[in-house]
Amino acid sequence: MGESSDSVKEKKDRTASQNGKPKIAYFSMEIGIDEHIPTYSGGLGILAGDTLKSCADLNVPIIGITLLSEHGYFYQKIDREGNQIELPINFNINDFLTLLPSKTSVTIEDRTVHIRIWNYLVKGVSGYIVPVFFLDANLEENSEYDREITKHLYGGDNKYRLAQEIVLGIGGVRAIQALGYKTIDKYHMNEGHAALGTLELFSKLKNIEKVREQCVFTTHTPVAAGHDQFNLSMAKSMLGEILPEPILREVTFENKLNMTRLALFFSHYVNGVAKKHGEVSQLMFPGYTIDSITNGVHTPTWVSEPFQRLFDKHMLGWRSDPYILRAAFSIDKTEVWDAHMEAKKNLIDFVNSRYNVGMDYDNFTIGFARRQTPYKRPDLIISDPDRLMQIAEKVGAIQIIYAGKAHPEDGLGKETIKRIFDTMKTMHGKVKIAYIHNYDISIGKMMTAGVDLWLNTPRRPREASGTSGMKAAHNGVPQFSTLDGWWLEGCIENITGWAIGPEKTEEEESDDDIDRNDLYSKLESWIIPKFYNDRDNWIRTMRSCIAINASFFNTNRMIQQYVLNAYFI
Ligand SMILES: *Cc1c(COP(=O)(O)O)cnc(C)c1O
Repeated sequence: MGESSDSVKEKKDRTASQNGKPKIAYFSMEIGIDEHIPTYSGGLGILAGDTLKSCADLNVPIIGITLLSEHGYFYQKIDREGNQIELPINFNINDFLTLLPSKTSVTIEDRTVHIRIWNYLVKGVSGYIVPVFFLDANLEENSEYDREITKHLYGGDNKYRLAQEIVLGIGGVRAIQALGYKTIDKYHMNEGHAALGTLELFSKLKNIEKVREQCVFTTHTPVAAGHDQFNLSMAKSMLGEILPEPILREVTFENKLNMTRLALFFSHYVNGVAKKHGEVSQLMFPGYTIDSITNGVHTPTWVSEPFQRLFDKHMLGWRSDPYILRAAFSIDKTEVWDAHMEAKKNLIDFVNSRYNVGMDYDNFTIGFARRQTPYKRPDLIISDPDRLMQIAEKVGAIQIIYAGKAHPEDGLGKETIKRIFDTMKTMHGKVKIAYIHNYDISIGKMMTAGVDLWLNTPRRPREASGTSGMKAAHNGVPQFSTLDGWWLEGCIENITGWAIGPEKTEEEESDDDIDRNDLYSKLESWIIPKFYNDRDNWIRTMRSCIAINASFFNTNRMIQQYVLNAYFI
């Protein structure tokens, strides 16, 4: 990749000496590190995976800690009526992970729960290795109940969740010791699920300030109801003496043990995941200083093959240094379009062969894929089918490709999927709609690269950051979104995409009618005409997505901010 063999060798040597002494442990309930390892559900896990990949690319001395979740989240099937069917996943652990000899244990309700550790190695662009450890309680010496703790990601009741968080937080800190790491002095909690790890550190250091020096907390939830909390008597009986009364008083909120409060209490550095989200979190937790570091995505993971070839030809070194993508402005427009059409054909062929919808390569194609839940308003674009069909007839054909799972307990999310299926039928093919089952990393890659426009319609200020639009930008696909999360920073109207709804979002929640109207009128008067009638300018917009947004909204830039602001201060 344009590097002399000497500099590669030098990096390798540095790698070998650094790899023995990582300094940071990164904890996440889910890590989506590889499309074959289904131990993630969505945004949080993919961010964790992308973060660790960028650390490997940049030689950041870090290790990852997560749960094995051997049955994954779930495999999604959808029947003809639009009902979601949840099937368990059985993944062949041995094919992807290595079982290590080290073991550890935690105490839950006076029982000892034994934990074994699986390992996966993330290899960076210059060979630097970041290990990821998956904690597994499925051991014969554990009770039937305890053997289940690390099987289902976000499954089970509150008690099951607390047991998982004991294994992740307390078990995670102990696993690091059992593995023989002696140089770790920063513990980064990606969301509050791992907050109990602070109690293990406190039981050893016996000093609140010393624990704080070592802990970093990233919050991801902009609403109070989204924070993990547990009934006090259950928490006391499950945790026992590792939960000291004086600490408990500090971190109890509304009579519950609150994981966000626990993480806040013990961290010297706290951040939200976009500028706006930092501000919203600061208002929620006035007693703490909350910074923000805007999310990114791992560039080499999310650039599709046709664009990888294009970037290799014009912007050598982009994999290790995504800032180089600024130069996308100078790539010939025909080449950008050809790469896009290759990615688009790949998606359309997949959709047509699976769902027999007869989509056309040349028609304007909108993509919407994410967790299906009411605040994201997946059905906003189809909420006035007549208007949508009129626009298609008047300005040009429209195709919509959907994907996304609803959490098994999210009844309203499941109803939304059903509503999309119902509407699909009433359109009589005038606007072709397809719903791809089982949204995962590989579907995500295909969709964010293969559509012409990436749609996102969260109700403000509910979207902490959002990352799928960044993946789209890496493939020259503009985003059309409400001004929430990262889009407040990434949207330059008509240059990197378009905004839905009011310009600057003051503190009010979004209004569905205003947003719907704006969505349709911009599609009709600006976006679709530009796509069909002003292709040159459309491709200019595509290039700006790469040059302005992909060059910045990536995890390489993001992790450099964590290193400077969170880890080494
Ligand atoms: C990127 C991604 C997400 C998160 O997307 P958001 O825009 O943050 O909602 C969820 N699931 C999969 C499979 C993804 O690839």
